Amino acid sequence: MDQVCCVCGELLDEENVSRCRLCGGSFHLAWSTGANIKECGSDFFHPESCGLGFVCRLCEPMPGSGGHPHSPNQSTTS
Ligand SMILES: [Zn+2]
Ligand SMILES: [Zn+2]
Repeated sequence: MDQVCCVCGELLDEENVSRCRLCGGSFHLAWSTGANIKECGSDFFHPESCGLGFVCRLCEPMPGSGGHPHSPNQSTTS
C-alpha cells in the first residue's frame, strides 16, 4: 500500500492518484477541482485509440516541441 509517485517520489493517497498510460506508474492527480493536491501529470487524449488517458509529467509530451504528430483533419462527412 506504500505506493509512491513515479514523478516526485512522495507517498500517494488513495483518492487523488492516477496511473500513467505510457509508463504505468502511479502519480498525483487531483480528481476534485479545488483540492489542495499537487498534480504530477495530466489527462491526455490518444487520437489512435480514441480514448482519454492519463500521463505522468515525465511522459507528458512537451507543448511546442513538436514531439507528437498532428494528423490532418479527416472529414468523415463528405
Ligand atoms: Zn507526485
Ligand atoms: Zn509516465
